[in-house]
Amino acid sequence: MGVSVEELKRSLDDLKCNLRFDGWRILYGGMRYAFISRELLMRITRELMRVLGPSLKSVVLQFTALSCFAEVSCIISGGTSPEEAAEKYADFIGAAGWGPTRIVSADFEKPEVTVRMYNSGVASWFRDNVESLEKVFPFYECAWWGYGWTGVVKAVIEGMGAEAPPLTYRETECLARGGEYCEWVITRGDDAGLSQLKSTIPRELFSYESVRAVIGGNTTPGNPDESIRGFLNLLEVKEDGSVGIGRERLLLAPGILFSIAYSMLPIEKFGDMIYAVYRRAHNEYGRYLSLQGEKYGAEGVLKFFLASASSMGWGKMDAWLDGSRIKFLIHQSLYGEEGGAYRKLRGLRPQPACISIGYIVEGILNYFAEQEGKPPLAAREEKCTAKGDEHCELTLQAL
Ligand SMILES: [Zn+2]
Ligand SMILES: [Zn+2]
Repeated sequence: MGVSVEELKRSLDDLKCNLRFDGWRILYGGMRYAFISRELLMRITRELMRVLGPSLKSVVLQFTALSCFAEVSCIISGGTSPEEAAEKYADFIGAAGWGPTRIVSADFEKPEVTVRMYNSGVASWFRDNVESLEKVFPFYECAWWGYGWTGVVKAVIEGMGAEAPPLTYRETECLARGGEYCEWVITRGDDAGLSQLKSTIPRELFSYESVRAVIGGNTTPGNPDESIRGFLNLLEVKEDGSVGIGRERLLLAPGILFSIAYSMLPIEKFGDMIYAVYRRAHNEYGRYLSLQGEKYGAEGVLKFFLASASSMGWGKMDAWLDGSRIKFLIHQSLYGEEGGAYRKLRGLRPQPACISIGYIVEGILNYFAEQEGKPPLAAREEKCTAKGDEHCELTLQAL
């Protein structure tokens, strides 16, 4: 697959050593990050794709150009040479679970850069889970990393002290569409949406310190270091180059990919219908977890979810029974802090930002409620860091 398992293991160890924590927040090179289950991210993506069609690319996926640009600029400003930074970033995304990645050829002066990703976490999921992809999503392509690499190439060129021309990509082979791997060629070319997007995203979002300065931050309950280290110790490279725990494939990405690209931007553009899409995708994932852990019952599955989501960088989560309702708290919520910072910086009315997590809990509990003939619960977010509250508080109760 172009990258040996041994190499990947070394990269993952490196990555683990370089993660820093601030309370329950996971940091890497100046940005906040979180791990996500591939099953969850792909369910969300599929639902968004169904509803938004090809515009998913312009609304959500273009954003990876900005976030990869920020990540690689950060590696360069840390003292790595620009060309080396591109190689380093390829190793990083392999270790981050997206798929072993190799730069096949790179001419940053022309520019023309060819990048190959093996066993892509995204493409392999679509290949294995969407029957006749060509018919269902004829517009499918792996734009995440196509755009992502335009951002990388731009950062490298600027790091070399030159001015980067407008860049575009084409995916010349795709695993999801029957290819052996995914391959993108990054070249000079106009991509109108990209420059438009750049002007709408406040730069402060690409720095953890700035987000923190905008939103404040609260004290940390529990023992984050021990929990997060415990989770990281379980994370391993598999023979096929994927990264995960047990059968679950996991992906690490900057928090802003989830909180801004996947949440704030589509909500801002398409409004409330996104919540319906999100409810469906997250409910479905909650049910998937319940099915996997059925023998542990509702409480067991919920506990597992809260503990793992907390250790994966989403904020510290706790839930308990309060009469006939379930109370659900998140401290240092990734959605709350970053979504809140985004709306504040853009001068938009504050609004709660963490309901998606509540939808997962809905999915878990309703799976068991259904079996017991009980009425389904619905989640509502009553307090949120994004609105200036000290923590996020959700209630789940029968409709
Ligand atoms: Zn692909
Ligand atoms: Zn919140």
